[in-house]
Amino acid sequence: MRITKEYLLPMLTVTLLIISINLFAQKPDKEQQNPATPEKSDTIPKKVFPEGTGTLPSDAIVLFNGDNLNAWEDIKGGKARWPVVGEIATDAADSGSVRTKRAFGDCQLHVEWRTASDIIGEGQRRGNSGIILQGRYEIQVLESFEGKTYSNGQAGAVYKEHPPMVNASKKPGEWQTYDIIFTGPRFNEQGKVVIPARVTVLHNGVLIQNNAEIRGYSNLNLKAPLMIQNHSNEHKNPVQYRNIWIREL
Ligand code: MG
Repeated sequence: MRITKEYLLPMLTVTLLIISINLFAQKPDKEQQNPATPEKSDTIPKKVFPEGTGTLPSDAIVLFNGDNLNAWEDIKGGKARWPVVGEIATDAADSGSVRTKRAFGDCQLHVEWRTASDIIGEGQRRGNSGIILQGRYEIQVLESFEGKTYSNGQAGAVYKEHPPMVNASKKPGEWQTYDIIFTGPRFNEQGKVVIPARVTVLHNGVLIQNNAEIRGYSNLNLKAPLMIQNHSNEHKNPVQYRNIWIREL
């Protein structure tokens, strides 16, 4: 049959329609939906007991439970110098940053912190601390309920990279939580980052970083100590910590 001009347009339309339907149709995953797909139990998830709100999962490593800072040391070496009083550790002026004695890679981390209720100062001076994953990637700790600063430097920011998606900060003096899920970077044989680090952060239970990609640092260590920043050179507002635990993934 000869294709004349009058047939060409309808034929083209029909062909395009068929192509679009095929491209955009939500195809069911035949593999998953097929009742004949075998049920697998070759990997059995380990049982973990959450115990309830406010306590830690049974497989968590306690980094600070109010007793002492024995899991930590000063970043310049030697004993951690933060005072511990009434189950609270104070990141006080000139008490130095601290790091864990143990190195960590991929992890789930829980941290509780608060800034001073009578906080003074502006911007980055309002209770500046930070949870520094592998000593390199900082999740900012700062008074950001009232305080104003650049958005990729406020509480919950991946410092100088990603502002938090929302500001879930509580008032100065109130206890706040960070629940952080961190996947460290992967390197090639030359130490170059081939898969960047990623982080998910819940601030007071609110998602503020969703699997955010973090710029890489070349390094061959898959595990490195967790650090908490002391920023007292620039401010005198102490930040307090309690109940810190980590689960290795
Ligand atoms: Mg900081």
